[in-house]
Order: sequence, then structure tokens, then C-alpha cells
Amino acid sequence: MIDLVGLSREELLAEVLSIGEKPFRVKQLWHWIYNKGVTDFSKMSSLAKPLQKKLLEKYFISRPYIVTERNSADRTRKWLLRFKDGKEIETVYIPEKDRGAVCLSTQVGCQMGCRFCHTGTQGFQRNLSASEIVSQFMIARDSCGEWPTPVDETRYLSNIVFMGMGEPLNNYDNLVKAIRIITDGDGLAISKRKITISTSGIADKIPSLAKDLGVKLAISLHAPNDTIRNQIMPINKKYPLPVLISACKEYQHLCERRQYITMEYVMLKGINDSPENAHELIQLVQGLEVKFNLIPFNPWDGCPFRPSSQKTIQQFSKILENAYFAAPIRQSRGQDIMAACGQLKSIFHQQKKIS
Ligand code: SF4
Repeated sequence: MIDLVGLSREELLAEVLSIGEKPFRVKQLWHWIYNKGVTDFSKMSSLAKPLQKKLLEKYFISRPYIVTERNSADRTRKWLLRFKDGKEIETVYIPEKDRGAVCLSTQVGCQMGCRFCHTGTQGFQRNLSASEIVSQFMIARDSCGEWPTPVDETRYLSNIVFMGMGEPLNNYDNLVKAIRIITDGDGLAISKRKITISTSGIADKIPSLAKDLGVKLAISLHAPNDTIRNQIMPINKKYPLPVLISACKEYQHLCERRQYITMEYVMLKGINDSPENAHELIQLVQGLEVKFNLIPFNPWDGCPFRPSSQKTIQQFSKILENAYFAAPIRQSRGQDIMAACGQLKSIFHQQKKIS
């Protein structure tokens, strides 16, 4: 049996031809699957009954199994999802007033080992397929009842950020394939400008994002110099800051339109939060168009770091703003449902062991 979710248009065409159908069936199927969100061939009313039967014999339209869904008081929604091989990942919906972003995972676990990250403690298991990446967004649409694809302005699930489990650029081919499906105007129709890929700094793949996809870029920067970054992010030994910054410059050079890069910066008490660190940051990003996103650290059991105080974060932000950089402090969302990356999975399984 073949899963139709995650096939490119070309692959879907090959399947349609393989069962003796005409190419126009691709458009119909694509519309039912990605615009209307239908998972049952018998509900595809524009397809004749014999064709529905033929499809049922060879194909299916997948959704991951929802292990648990949690809703926060602030409307953040988080799913722990299980795939056919039993592997589990997390997907989060982070609402704003009249829109919202779905945070997708690209791997089961992560091999990058960033020391402040809970997912980094869980080890790497495998890459997600394009189908598994796309279907996370489809689960969010199912849950929010956002089928058929609404017009852009009226969507609650308006943006996608690749900031869930895993390093997206370590699963590059599946990521590209998934984004091509997600941005296809006949289906899920999410604009490239509303998609952000966050990377810990796989510098040699960053320029390709501008060439292959034209989506927005966020860098998990978290340090103003190599000494600090080497301590908290092992990837920095392979791609030190001068290499990373030069890759970011090349990305901006290749982008068709002016494209800010978001520099994510988690505030760790006594590690990277001094006024000197803020001044170093300003020097580091000279020649780039960036905005900062200061993230209050959300400690987890056994982590070696403490959060910076609110006052320290505000002072840090002020220094950046005085140098004409946007440097908002991210609001912590969904704390009551463990919305920080990797936490829901751990807590769910701890609870299962206890009960
Ligand atoms: S911060 Fe991102 S790249 Fe680093 S360990 Fe966590 S999931 Fe992996």
C-alpha cells in the first residue's frame, strides 16, 4: 500500500498512470487531499465509484496517530504524534490574535546536542519523511477545522516555522520536498514568505535555502562569540561564527527580495547575557540585516543552566534596540502544557511509567 501524502506532483502522476488513469486525475486528487483534507476515497465525489475502489486497493492517505493533544489556557495547542514504526514527535500550534504559526518537527530526536535544549538530550533516531512532515500540518488543520484551505487573510494556521524537534537542514531533501507540497497553490497553499526555517548553523546548506526555496531564515545563534558558542552548541566547532555569518550574507545576497534573518538568542544566566555580550552581538552581525528574538530560558529537569532575570533580558534588549535592531523578548507560550521543545514527549512517558 502506498501513502499518497508526501508524493510530489510528478510522483503522483506516475501512480495515476500506473493504474491506467488520465493525468488530470492528479489535479483532482491533489485538491481532495490538500485543499479539502479528505482522507477517505469514498468521499471524493468527483471520482467515479470504480476509480475510488481502484484507489482503495493500492493507496491510502495517511495521518499520524495522535497520542495526546493538549490545549493551553493561552490557546497554544500541542500534539504528541506517533508514526507507523512507533516513533514519536511533537507539533505545536502557537496562536496570535487573528493568525498563528504551526511549529513542525523534521527529525525524531536530534543529533546536534545543543546543551540548553531538551530535545538534544533525547538522542537522534531518524529523519522524518516528506509525508511525515506535511502530515503534521494536516493534523493541525484537522484539529482546527481549517478545511478546505481558506483564503489567506482568514486563516488561523497562517504560518509555519520549522523549529520543532530536529535540525531541518540535516534532513534537507525531505524538507525541500515537504515545503514544495505545502506551498503548492492548489492545496495547502502556504506562501513561502510565511515559512521560516530555523537552523543551528549548518552553514554550507544555508545559501541553498535562498536558491531552492526562498523561505525565511532563522539562526539559533545564542552566543556572541566562538568561545561561548563552542560551550553550548557543538555545531560551532564545525562551522564557527565567521563561517556562519558569511553563509548568512550569501543567503541574503541570493534572496530575490529583502529578507531579514531572525537571530534567536536564548538568555542563559551568567553565560551569554552580559551587556558586553550584547555589544559583541552588534559587532558580529555588522553587514547583515537581522532582527533578534530574545528567548527567556525555560529550564527542564537536569539542565545545567538557569534563566536570566527579566531585568537582565530587558537591559540586553535595550542595548540592541539602541543600535537600531529589533530585539523583542519572546513571550513564553503554553507553559502549562510543556510547550518547550521535547518536553511533552518526556513528560508523557514519565507519567506512563508512574501510572
Ligand atoms: S536546539 Fe534544535 S538543533 Fe539544537 S539540539 Fe535542540 S532541536 Fe537540535
